[in-house]
Amino acid sequence: MTEDTIAAVATALGEGSIAVVRVSGAEAIERIAPLFKSKTDLREADSHTVHYGLIRDPMDGSVLDEVLVTVMKGPRSFTAEDVVEISTHGGIVAVQAVLELVLRSGVRMAEPGEFTKRAFLNGRIDLAQAEAVIDLIRSKSSRAFQVARKQAEGALSKRIVPLRRQLIELLAHVEVNIDYPEHDVVEMTTASITDTCGQVKTIVEQLLITAAEGKILREGIVTAIVGRPNAGKSSLLNALAQENKAIVTDIPGTTRDIVEESVSLSGIPLRLLDTAGIRETSDVVERIGVERSRGALLEADLILLVLNRNEELHEDERKLLEDLVDRPVIIVLNKSDLENRLDLEEIEARYPKERMVSISAREGSGIDQLEKAVSRLFFGGSIESGDLTYVSNARHIALLHQTVQSLNDAIEAADAGIPIDLIQIDLARAWELLGEIVGDSVGESLLDQIFSQFCLGK
Ligand code: GDP
Ligand code: ZN
Repeated sequence: MTEDTIAAVATALGEGSIAVVRVSGAEAIERIAPLFKSKTDLREADSHTVHYGLIRDPMDGSVLDEVLVTVMKGPRSFTAEDVVEISTHGGIVAVQAVLELVLRSGVRMAEPGEFTKRAFLNGRIDLAQAEAVIDLIRSKSSRAFQVARKQAEGALSKRIVPLRRQLIELLAHVEVNIDYPEHDVVEMTTASITDTCGQVKTIVEQLLITAAEGKILREGIVTAIVGRPNAGKSSLLNALAQENKAIVTDIPGTTRDIVEESVSLSGIPLRLLDTAGIRETSDVVERIGVERSRGALLEADLILLVLNRNEELHEDERKLLEDLVDRPVIIVLNKSDLENRLDLEEIEARYPKERMVSISAREGSGIDQLEKAVSRLFFGGSIESGDLTYVSNARHIALLHQTVQSLNDAIEAADAGIPIDLIQIDLARAWELLGEIVGDSVGESLLDQIFSQFCLGK
């Protein structure tokens, strides 16, 4: 257990109806009890109980706020230490005053992510789970939230742990072999190296397949809405934003204080490129000019090309259709409520039918078809059913790739009849790499780096 007791405001800063000061550590109860005037003495409170009372400065008797205090004794708490949570009135004043009083009582201010770090160090959660807590906080859509929650519960770790067990058993065999190098035993061992490594590799590769989808769910589909003036780009954006209430995430305490707007489409986050620009002038192409818009188009994971069905195809549009043919484009045929003057044949010659969707941005019709088309393009349409263990964290993805590399080295070496004490090195490396995902073999500096991404109070 870590020695000192820490505190921080655990709720978002700003106005809300309540705010929470979280205190964790061996002395949490002892330090808060003298500040809390209530029918119950916190020192006698049962674990997992809530108490009503006043926070009072013991120096001058002044009352800071009327609060609810929750007591959760370790190890059955988030950090596995004794935790006291003080729910104060919302707004910055009350919660800051309570926090200051707590900090004057011999409790230290927590660093960003320190509560989660303690949960990890105390063995409550593993590293992949701790990292998922960051994703939970940052998730921009319900879908990404669900994926992060699964991972916070240990879904990824459950896949990794058995693989490590297989490898360690294999390593034990190899060890025995090095000590007793009889010929037939060596042959058997070589066979089981190829076997086990092959099995582990298959599963690691399956996890890597989910990485692309996981990244999309986590970070959102970078989307560019393009088309000629008046095609209905802004109207489409508004229709999307209305039907799918945009989730605004604000990530305080990070180096890049991003306030990002994203629209959620059947739970898939769409990150609209240069959103401020789109909102103000409504036209990426018009606003940023041809040069830069080409860059934006290259960056985009998804391009929504909006055409006006009420007009014949324009030369600019013909050019765009040609340029974008190999890109992830969905052709949005807008203004389907008006007379149809656009000849589709020319477009159909280039693009498959499932890439074309008729909508009326004005009436809000066809948006569901557009959602389906997007989900088909990125998830083979199976987004609703699939299992939610996506690997989405860049660190995990890199480690899994390195693991495959080490396993390949081991398999090749075994096939080439290289002495098994040399193959052992590759096996041990694969085992260690997988261990880094769950945090079994990571250094202090990496931990600091990971946990510093958290906001205060987590
Ligand atoms: P942008 O220049 O591509 O952003 O196009 P806007 O979204 O600003 O729309 C241009 C004009 O077309 C506006 O007057 C819209 O009201 C109109 N408009 C957009 N979508 C539709 C639609 O689905 N049906 C009809 N009838 N008009 C539309
Ligand atoms: Zn516009």
